[in-house]
Amino acid sequence: MKDSIKVCIRLRPPSAMEQANGDEVVVHQLRENTLSVTTGEGKPNLECAYGAVLGSECGQEDVFKAVVGTVEGVADGINGCIFTYGQTGAGKTYTMLGSGVGKHDGVTARSVKMLFEHLKKNSAASAEGGDEARFSVHCSFLQIYNERLHDLLAGGGEGNSSGLNIREHKNRRSGKPEVFVSGLSEYRVTSLDDVLTLIDAGSKSRALRSTDMNDVSSRSHAVLQLSVEAESVGEDFSVLKRAKLNLVDLAGSEKMNTKANITRGHKNELTNINSSLSTLGNVMAALGDKSRTHVPYRDSKLTRLLQDSLGGNTKTTVICCVSPCSSAVDETTSTLKFADRARRVMLHVRTNEVVDDKILLARAQSEIARLRTLLKM
Ligand code: ADP
Ligand code: MG
Repeated sequence: MKDSIKVCIRLRPPSAMEQANGDEVVVHQLRENTLSVTTGEGKPNLECAYGAVLGSECGQEDVFKAVVGTVEGVADGINGCIFTYGQTGAGKTYTMLGSGVGKHDGVTARSVKMLFEHLKKNSAASAEGGDEARFSVHCSFLQIYNERLHDLLAGGGEGNSSGLNIREHKNRRSGKPEVFVSGLSEYRVTSLDDVLTLIDAGSKSRALRSTDMNDVSSRSHAVLQLSVEAESVGEDFSVLKRAKLNLVDLAGSEKMNTKANITRGHKNELTNINSSLSTLGNVMAALGDKSRTHVPYRDSKLTRLLQDSLGGNTKTTVICCVSPCSSAVDETTSTLKFADRARRVMLHVRTNEVVDDKILLARAQSEIARLRTLLKM
C-alpha cells in the first residue's frame, strides 16, 4: 500500500494578536493540496504539495476527513498513528482535542466515535448474536515531559515520579516483538463517553507553562493509546485482529530564542522537546530512505514509544499546523521542512491477524480435499 503515511498541512486563521499587530498573511492555499509561502526579501518563495492542505476556512469535520483512512485501518487490524506537529500556538491541541476545555470536537473524539461504530458494524456482520463480546478496546493516556514518561491516568503530572520505562516483548499469540510501557494503566472502554472522561481527567495533569506564543501551551507530548482487539468468528474458525491507535498532541516545535529571558527549567524543556522532535524527523527520514538500514528509534522516548506505529505495519497521518502570518514565517518554513521529510516515508501495510488453530485445521482439510480431487482426475 503506497500511502501509508499521509502528511497534511493545516493553516489556522490569523489570531487576534496577529491581526492587531497588522501581521501580513504570507501562507496561501493554491490548490487542494498545494500551498505557497512568501518567505521575505532575498529568500526563495516556496510552493509545496502535500497529501492535503486544509485552509483556514476548514472546519474540524474537514480535518477529520483527512485522517479517516487511519481510523478505518485500526478497526481492520492495521496500527494507526495520528499526530499534530508545529510551533506553539499553531493549532495542534485545537486540531486534536477541540475548541475549548471540555468541548470535544477535534480529531480525537471523532476518531474514537468512528472506531466504535466500525467495530460494532464489523462484529455484527461477522457473526449473529450479541456483538459486545466480539471486540475490546483499552485506553491509556500518557505524556513525555523532559524525556520522562508519565501516566496521566495515575495522577502523573510533571514531578511525581521518575517516569515509566519502555520495554519490548514478544506478543504471545503472534510471536512478533511489540513495544509497551511497563506499569502504564489501561482502562477498558466501551464508548466515546468513557474515553472522553479519561481524557478530561488526564488533561488536568499535563505540564503547562506559559510561553510567548500561547499562555497555556503544553510543554509535553501527550499520547492517547487505544488498543483494539476484534474477533471474527466463522463456523469452524476465528480470526483475531489486533491494532493500536496512537493519537499524539506534540509539544511545540519552535527553536530556542536565545535573546528571551528564559529560566533554566524552561531551557531544559525546550532542549528536550527540540531533541525528541528532531529525532522524530530523523526517524522519518531514515524510513523514507531505502538505502538506510538503521532507524534511530531509540534516540528519544517519543520515537521508541511510537516505533510500531511509525515503521511497522501502520497507517500514519501527520497534521502539520502553521500560522499563516509573516511573523511566524521562519517557524512555518521549519514545519514545512519536517513535513517534506515525513512525506517520503512509504511503508508496507498488512493486517495484524492472529489465526486460530481451527482455521489452520480447516485450511489444511480443504487443501487435502483439493489434492484428493486432483488425484482422482
Ligand atoms: P498549540 O496546541 O499548537 O500550541 P492551540 O491549539 O492551543 O495551539 O491553538 C492556539 C489558539 O488558536 C487557541 O486559542 C485555539 O483555539 C486557536 N486556534 C487554533 N487553530 C484554530 C483554527 N483552525 N480555527 C480557529 N481557532 C484556532
Ligand atoms: Mg497545545
